[in-house]
Parts: sequence; C-alpha cells; structure tokens
Amino acid sequence: MKFTVSEPVMQIKAYEPGKPLKEVEREYNIKDAVKLASNENPFGYSPDVKKAVERLLDQMNRYPESSAPELCAVLSEKFGVGISNIVIGNGSDDIIALLAHAFLNQGDEALMPLPSFLMYEISVKTAKGKPVMVPLTDFTTNLDGILSAIGERTRMIFVTNPFNPTGAVITTAEFERFAARVPDDVLIIVDEAYIEFVREDTVFNSLDRPLFDPRVVTLRTFSKAYGLAGFRVGYGIMDEQVAGILHRIRQPFNVNSLAQAAAVAAVSDTQFLSNCIENTHRELDFLIEKLTNMGLTVLPTQSNFLMTDVGTDASVVFEAMLRQGVVVRSMKSYGFENWLRINAGTRKENEKFIAALKQVLNR
Ligand SMILES: *Cc1c(COP(=O)(O)O)cnc(C)c1O
Repeated sequence: MKFTVSEPVMQIKAYEPGKPLKEVEREYNIKDAVKLASNENPFGYSPDVKKAVERLLDQMNRYPESSAPELCAVLSEKFGVGISNIVIGNGSDDIIALLAHAFLNQGDEALMPLPSFLMYEISVKTAKGKPVMVPLTDFTTNLDGILSAIGERTRMIFVTNPFNPTGAVITTAEFERFAARVPDDVLIIVDEAYIEFVREDTVFNSLDRPLFDPRVVTLRTFSKAYGLAGFRVGYGIMDEQVAGILHRIRQPFNVNSLAQAAAVAAVSDTQFLSNCIENTHRELDFLIEKLTNMGLTVLPTQSNFLMTDVGTDASVVFEAMLRQGVVVRSMKSYGFENWLRINAGTRKENEKFIAALKQVLNR
C-alpha cells in the first residue's frame, strides 16, 4: 500500500467478534444454529423497549439529542449521581476509546490484565499510547502485579470486574487495598459490563458508593444483562471534570435516537431485568452441573458466562461444534489452549450445546 499508516495502528490485530449466527448458518448450511459465544442475553429484551423504539420510527429523519437527556436523567436517578457525571457511548467500547484518546499522550502507558477485553489494547494503541499487560494469576486479575508495573508514564489502569473471559472477581477489600496504592494522577477504569449478574456480596461494585474516588471511572453497558447489544449503548460514570473532557471529544451524535429510547425503556423495566438475571443464574447452574458430570473442569463465575477445560485443542472443538450448529468461543487466542467460553443460553440452547459437546468429545 502506498499510504503511510501510523506505526501503532500497524501493530493492531483486528478484533475478532464471535461468529454471527447468519454467517454460521450460511457457511455450514444449517438451520437453527445456537450462539453462546458473545455473552449476549438469550432472553431478549423488555417489551417496553420495542414499544419505545416503534414510537420513534417515524421521526428518524431528525438528528438524535446530542446529550441523551432522558437516559442521563434515569441513570442519574438510579445511581444518585449528577448528569454531569455521566457520559453515554455507542456501546461502552466508545467510552473506552474516548478515555484513551483524551488521557494518553504518545508513549503514555495504560496497564491492563493479560489477556483482557481486546478493545482496551486496540483503543490504547490507536491513541498512540502503550498498553502494558500484566498476566493473570490463577485466572484472576493480578492486582499486585499491576501495582508493580506502575511507572512514570502510567496514566490509566483497566480492570474488569467480573473478569471477561474467566468470570473471576475483585472483592471490595481487594479493590480498596489496590486503589490506596495507585498514584493520585492515574485513572482506574473499572469495567463492570457483567456486574448485574454478580451473586456474591463481597464483590466490589463501584456504584455502591458512586464517585467516592475521583480517579475511578465506572463503565457499564446495555449489551449484556439488558439485552440491547444490537442497539449499541453503554455509559460511564465518573468525576465531573473527567466527563467534561470526554464530552469535548465525543462525536456529537454518538448515540442514535433508537438506542437512547431503548435504554430508557430498559432501565425502567426492572422486573424484566431481574427475571433475566434469575434465568441466567438457573441456566448457568444447569450448565455447570452437566459439564461437571461430564468430568470437565469449570471455573467459578460471577457473570453470565463460564470457562470450561475441554482437555483438547479448543479451536478443534470450536470447529466441530460449529458443524453441529453451536457457536462457542475458543479461548486459544487468549492463551488458554484447551478452554472454551460459553454464555448461559435458554434451556433449549444449553441442552443442544451439551448434546453437541458430548458428541464432539465422545463422552
Ligand atoms: C461485552 C463487554 C463490554 C460491552 O461492550 P459494548 O460496547 O457496551 O457492547 C465491555 N467490556 C467487556 C469486558 C465486555 O465483555
């Protein structure tokens, strides 16, 4: 190519999303494929979302409201924070990118676990910052390792709680001990994409005491528990000055009108959310029981997904499962050779997954 590409961008590997169902069905010539690969909500979304979106459909010739005032109002009420503490994004991916672009100069460092959600690394590199990765210990974020990696150029730290892909968590006590040792001028970005699924009350939740620490940026999403992945909407809650910086650089219409309306309706239907969470827990327990009965190791999880050791090359199992019409996620590229990650599906989907896995593994 004759165009000069920015050096750090040349280093970026494209994000590989879980295979979309339509693609699998086309490629393998199958129907009714089941996807448990992207931690999506198999129970759909609130019927109120559909109504809210339908009401808007004849106004789509207009630009959305730039500041998402209705969504900010319901979130402000829900968490007891000011409107000025909230930034809405086109998914929380959007906010990750905004943070990297706003707070990293060339060569500044962002610390993160290895492996991590790939968007941290991609955003940091795109912003010409330097990702510094700290390997997990025992499938869990190595907070002491992260502390030891802090240097002159460290500007931000990403932690994910519960952790994707292992499902491990950081407790409140662990977080407090960690935060006390992080310098004052370093942002602590706490990605809580799966926090709604947590069952243990020792797990750190940054919005239990919102804004208790100006360094802490909370990231949340509507893509998982609320089932709005296709709408693309997430949010960050943070110190007002940090939010002000992100507002300066975000695209004025980063969240479309349908996504805004969908999210408002979703927050308001608390019954739907709690049903989803309950169903997810029941289905996770079902999967854990079946996998354990097959003699497979399953990691403890506080999210809507789990990791299991299939005892053989995960990419081979992934391929064989695809041919059975079940999309799972191989963790091989994350450094877990023999592990799959699957999210809880509906009972029917989970049964199909277990039957296919039994066939593939000959158990
Ligand atoms: C799914 C996920 C998100 C959410 O991304 P969106 O852009 O809001 O869909 C964020 N962080 C992690 C770790 C995730 O797994």
